[in-house]
Amino acid sequence: MTEMPYKIWFNGKLVDWKDANVHVLTHTLHYGLGVFEGIRAYECQEGKTAIFRLSEHVKRMFTSAHIANIKIPFTKEEITEAILNTIKENNLISCYIRPLAFIGDGVMGVHPKDNPINVIIAVWPWGAYLGEDGVNNGIRTKVSSFTRMHVNASMTKAKICGNYVNSIYAKMEVTSLGYDEAILLDADGYVAEGSGENIFIVRYGRLITPPLTSTLEGITRNTVIEIAEDLGIKISYQRFTRDEFYIADEAFLTGTAAEVTPVREIDDRAIGTGKPGKITKTIQKIYFDTVQGKNKKYKKWLTYLT
Ligand SMILES: *Cc1c(COP(=O)(O)O)cnc(C)c1O
Repeated sequence: MTEMPYKIWFNGKLVDWKDANVHVLTHTLHYGLGVFEGIRAYECQEGKTAIFRLSEHVKRMFTSAHIANIKIPFTKEEITEAILNTIKENNLISCYIRPLAFIGDGVMGVHPKDNPINVIIAVWPWGAYLGEDGVNNGIRTKVSSFTRMHVNASMTKAKICGNYVNSIYAKMEVTSLGYDEAILLDADGYVAEGSGENIFIVRYGRLITPPLTSTLEGITRNTVIEIAEDLGIKISYQRFTRDEFYIADEAFLTGTAAEVTPVREIDDRAIGTGKPGKITKTIQKIYFDTVQGKNKKYKKWLTYLT
């Protein structure tokens, strides 16, 4: 990433962007075992900043680390404090937040043994991940020829760095063909998730989302489920096929980066009318109001910077 005028929290200290460096023999750099989070802070009323579902993200970072057998040398409280401080020190009103715990240099064998665990927290301004046009009008997706990892391969419940090799293959494949995002099927051929997003389709007025078997437990997915339940929309947690995706009335992707992004096309077939559907737009509006503190009911999910 090009140099930015922000400070990065590195093992307990704020350092300049250009000084947040590691040795080339960093274990995670070679073998991919590390855990990270993607969090967003939004501008709310009166120029205030609120972080969306901060405690859930920090908690997931630690559960990811538990799965990966990485012992983070800080407490959840310390990481939470560090995130708040890093945003404050950088005077950012809205931003993306990237905590990462990774294995440092030491032995170069596969088993990292006593290599130190490092933690960084970087923040930077980031707009709509799949583009403003995508958020407003929907994106074009394609099923990737790359299969999502089998559940017993690299652990789908953890946000592990190396899991993203699979995501990158899929994303590169479909974007080089001109599509916006990849849809990955699980090892049995059912729809699993996007390269970094959970998936919802709408059929007969009901939301359908794949069960968590081979997908990450998205916090945005969970948010959308609660919003939908409050709206009285029924939800099925079931596997579905790519052709059921083709005949969906509506579809959208969810993720901290992608937020709620409508899908208007899959494999060159329009979904529904080819425009974001009614249920999608309703949920999307509530989501954006919620993260910006405009929805009283969901203030519980916001941590304001003071
Ligand atoms: C991060 C991620 C998501 C989205 O999770 P959120 O908690 O909503 O940001 C979905 N799938 C994968 C593979 C991810 O890494």
